[in-house]
Amino acid sequence: MCVLIILFCWELNVLTMQKKVRVLANTLGKIGVSLFCLLALPGIGFCQSVVDYNGLLKVSFNKIVNQHNEVVSFAGNSFFWSNDNWGGEKYYNASVVSWLKRDWRATIVRAALGVEDTGGYINNPESNKAKLKAIVDAAIAEGIYVIIDWHSHHAEDYTAQATAFFKEMAEQYGEYNNVIYEVYNEPLQVSWSNIIKPYAETIISSIRDIDPDNLIIVGSPEWSQRVDLVAADPITGYDNIAYSLHFYTVWHQQWLRDRATEALNKGIPLFVTEWGSIGYTGTDPETDKWMDWCLKNDISHCNWAVNDKDEEWSIIRPGSSTTGGWSSVFLTEAGKLAKDIIKNWPTIGFSSGK
Ligand code: MG
Repeated sequence: MCVLIILFCWELNVLTMQKKVRVLANTLGKIGVSLFCLLALPGIGFCQSVVDYNGLLKVSFNKIVNQHNEVVSFAGNSFFWSNDNWGGEKYYNASVVSWLKRDWRATIVRAALGVEDTGGYINNPESNKAKLKAIVDAAIAEGIYVIIDWHSHHAEDYTAQATAFFKEMAEQYGEYNNVIYEVYNEPLQVSWSNIIKPYAETIISSIRDIDPDNLIIVGSPEWSQRVDLVAADPITGYDNIAYSLHFYTVWHQQWLRDRATEALNKGIPLFVTEWGSIGYTGTDPETDKWMDWCLKNDISHCNWAVNDKDEEWSIIRPGSSTTGGWSSVFLTEAGKLAKDIIKNWPTIGFSSGK
């Protein structure tokens, strides 16, 4: 506002009386709009971000609720593996996060920190961490939620590294309501009770020593699909723990929805941190069924993946801009479908401004 007043005074000195009146009216108008936005609109939700409104997310029985105890769900995008030279890392920047928020109305993004494979965190921790932080920082700046995902298929073999990593993340980001921790992307066919659950409890304990409250999401055997095993032996002793459910519509259909519904009925809160489709090609009717199910059960979801790799799950075509700005010609069939779903997802507290 000070800048506007100085500009006004300067302009006043060099203009004719007629122009002075016009400048005065224009400046007062700008000040009025600024004041209105600063003082009045937050109260009615226009200038609030989705995180301003919803605040810290909490688990309440089998639902996720916001700071007003309203049941909420969010829709957005998962980035591709962060691994060096895998191709998806070029989209790990603030411009893409901003584009997804503004053009896709994404209210959540997921940074997928590649771990044990070539070019991942174990090989090159600083490079991968820098990419992840670019997404987390951008999401905080944009006022949307962000998942810090330990994107591993063998996390139990890297417990020490995961512990150190999540401690660092909790120290740096634990005070931000935007942040959600996902401690194990997709375990393979290993025991829930004897391997994954003890690993998760170790990581959860490390996070909770520093950050007492942000939501933590845990995967389950067989690519985060065995939520029935979780339901039979859930993690107790910690608050705000949810479980991931992953599906790819060409393979995972009614049988997985039935299994997930049963887990929900047993009080297990679910979060779809990753899902993929091949788009509206006439051969993928399952996407609608899954989204109906997510809507009915208030399940948040992140679409896999923000990448231009020539594979069915990528949302953009090879060679698309690395800073967003994608018109529909740059979207794949999967990208068009995902955008349609994300953009129209009913999210409490969403506004196009911030
Ligand atoms: Mg916290």
